[in-house]
Amino acid sequence: MIYVEKVKQYEFKERTILVFFLKTSRWVWLADNKLVLSFPFPADSLSNMGDAVAFSLLPLAYFEHTDIRLAPTLTVSPSLQSRVDAICSLWNEWYDGQRRIRITAPMESKPYYNAKRVAAQLFSGGVDSLYTFARNSEEITYLVLFHGADVSASDNETFSKIERQAQDFAKEFGKRLRVFSTNVRFLSRVSWEYMAHVCAMIAPLLACRQLVHRIYVASSYSGIFGNRYPWGSHPRLDPLICSDGIETVHHGFDVKRFEKIVYLSKNPQLLKRVRVCTRASDVDHQVNCGRCEKCYRTAVALKLRGVSGTESLPSSAFSFLSAMQYLENYQLRITSALFWSEILEFLHKRNQLSREESEFVAFLEIKLGKTYQDYIEDFENAPGSFSNIYSCGGRLRNYEKRVGFAKDSLQILHKLQRLHRGKRYRNFLRDMAKWQQTVTGELC
Ligand SMILES: [Zn+2]
Repeated sequence: MIYVEKVKQYEFKERTILVFFLKTSRWVWLADNKLVLSFPFPADSLSNMGDAVAFSLLPLAYFEHTDIRLAPTLTVSPSLQSRVDAICSLWNEWYDGQRRIRITAPMESKPYYNAKRVAAQLFSGGVDSLYTFARNSEEITYLVLFHGADVSASDNETFSKIERQAQDFAKEFGKRLRVFSTNVRFLSRVSWEYMAHVCAMIAPLLACRQLVHRIYVASSYSGIFGNRYPWGSHPRLDPLICSDGIETVHHGFDVKRFEKIVYLSKNPQLLKRVRVCTRASDVDHQVNCGRCEKCYRTAVALKLRGVSGTESLPSSAFSFLSAMQYLENYQLRITSALFWSEILEFLHKRNQLSREESEFVAFLEIKLGKTYQDYIEDFENAPGSFSNIYSCGGRLRNYEKRVGFAKDSLQILHKLQRLHRGKRYRNFLRDMAKWQQTVTGELC
């Protein structure tokens, strides 16, 4: 059980900081006993705090397999438990679990009706984010940035730079930038990427239904791959993290990353603001460093669409040769490899390739083929990351035609899927449940 008490409220300069004191069963691991949420609005414009707290802690509660009880001052919306049940069912499906998390809290007497028609967007300034913004900009009033999310809470220098860039963007497009903050990422061991991140960022926004009625989340992945891939932000998950009077839209899932870049390539005003990495130093006078995998991937995609340079990326990044030299000894993550695959697919469809494009195609085929192969072999040696296993089946099937050894890889993949979805992981869950029962039994 996680018991949540509201302890302190601080208000200054239109900001409200709320500190919730957490008491837990002995076996629940927490790095700190305080959940801290910081809002860029005065306290009297916040409501529905029970939902905000419950969703902030839900991934942790699911991971630790424990229920949540809120203090009597924290009311929740009547539909909260049904949404929590739906989320748990989804996670059960993804992670082969059988968990249901109960939220015990006082309930609001009637559903909240929201007359506001104002939208907010979780904003990072990256390709996905700008695409979603461009598609819904008329409706969007608030751009929401999180301190303590992608950039470490203690890295104030990087965060101020990102905030400055986002502020410039908001000003240029006539929007309001609002900075929220949460410490939930650093409270527990639950995977930020696979389970917690969007839940942690939408949750505090649910307390702002007097100001907004819709939250946009830009999709990271798309299509078959995205559907199979368990991730902390997902078209089946995000819409469930909502509340009475405030809805969440997972946007852009039907559009591949490459197509989003193509869209941005036609819009120089957006393109000059795109931020794909946080490595640029102040000396660079650039938004992006131009020397990392993400920068090369974006620049190469733009180059293929006839863009030879933009203010946000150094011109040196727009080179097949530099990209190849960089990638040669770089260990690609599977998720990045899939985005490079989209670029390769685009090149495969072209009738005529220049000499350097042909060389780049040959390079990518080998590099990506090897990346997928290594990825599958890693599973044999380190079967811990079971959730990744759904991800590359579809892609590998496409590769079968192009890369000779992919067929063998597919067989290995299927074997591993059987292994993981079947015995091993179920045994692991059973053992863990037993262990927890023993420990909680001791407590009772
Ligand atoms: Zn970079």
